[in-house]
Amino acid sequence: MTGNPMLPYLGKLVEVRDLAAEIKLFRIELMNGGGESFRTWKPGQFAFISAFGLGEAPFGIANASGRGSAVDFAVARLGSVTTGLHELGTGDVVGVRGPLGNCFPMEKFKGKNLVVIGGGIGGAPLRPVIQHVLDHRADYGRLTILWAARRPDLLVFTDEYDEWRRAPDTSLHLTVDTPDENWKHETGLITQLLEKVAPAAENAVTITCGPPIMIYYATRLLGKMGFAPEWNYVTLEARMHCGLGKCGRCNLGTKLVCVDGPVFNMVEVGELLETYL
Ligand SMILES: Cc1cc2nc3c(=O)[nH]c(=O)nc-3n(C[C@H](O)[C@H](O)[C@H](O)COP(=O)(O)OP(=O)(O)OC[C@H]3O[C@@H](n4cnc5c(N)ncnc54)[C@H](O)[C@@H]3O)c2cc1C
Repeated sequence: MTGNPMLPYLGKLVEVRDLAAEIKLFRIELMNGGGESFRTWKPGQFAFISAFGLGEAPFGIANASGRGSAVDFAVARLGSVTTGLHELGTGDVVGVRGPLGNCFPMEKFKGKNLVVIGGGIGGAPLRPVIQHVLDHRADYGRLTILWAARRPDLLVFTDEYDEWRRAPDTSLHLTVDTPDENWKHETGLITQLLEKVAPAAENAVTITCGPPIMIYYATRLLGKMGFAPEWNYVTLEARMHCGLGKCGRCNLGTKLVCVDGPVFNMVEVGELLETYL
């Protein structure tokens, strides 16, 4: 990031489309110098997007750097900013502040088997990890993706599942809490899917994102399954204002999610996750 980190760049929406029920994908081309800051970013980083007149909110960057210049965000409609964003369309302009936060240490993950566990909109910051592994396939071992949502119409990035399934040494496992009549995959919580798929803990790293309750139970189960705490990674959300470690709003114990995170391993936050619920 260059210049005043509180000042957003302007970003043009070059694509806006429905991703799932009440979730839209926003593809943004940065303007007025923002392209320089977003020349590269790392899987796990986030940015603030502003809907002018309404405010700004943080979102995980949802695509890997190196697949074109545009930056993707998947936004679930929740309150004022996200509803304002959902009312925008292609050609509209938003503010973008970032890239911010730390990242998944993809260099350190080289040679490891990866187990990626995404629940609902929590799949958004995991898509760059999946894309990065697919773009550098020989650098990583087996990729096991466990993907969940409450309902089939809440699953994100469904149009990319075939690409993921076709990739070498890669498997995708889907589950929903409440199936519909067309559902052909698993039914139940992602923890049940994890027990059923039972990926091997040896030489593996896990990466989990989803609602706090899912993160809590999934990481505990991974611990019981033998995955080492230092290789058990999560990306966390917290109510956040500055995103720069100045306001202290997003603390989790002594950690600030905006600058110490949003990516943590269980050595760093395992004990703190109960307060995150
Ligand atoms: C690092 C990070 C990455 C994120 N990535 C994404 C993403 O990729 N996609 C996405 O859709 N959302 C993401 N979020 C959450 C997103 O920032 C919030 O949904 C957004 O701030 C809501 O803004 P709003 O003005 O629409 O809602 P508000 O009007 O501010 O709030 C509406 C309601 O939601 C509650 N709420 C708002 N934010 C949060 C929160 N973070 N945790 C719990 N409750 C909350 C409020 O208390 C209120 O009840 C991320 C958050 C963080 C910190």
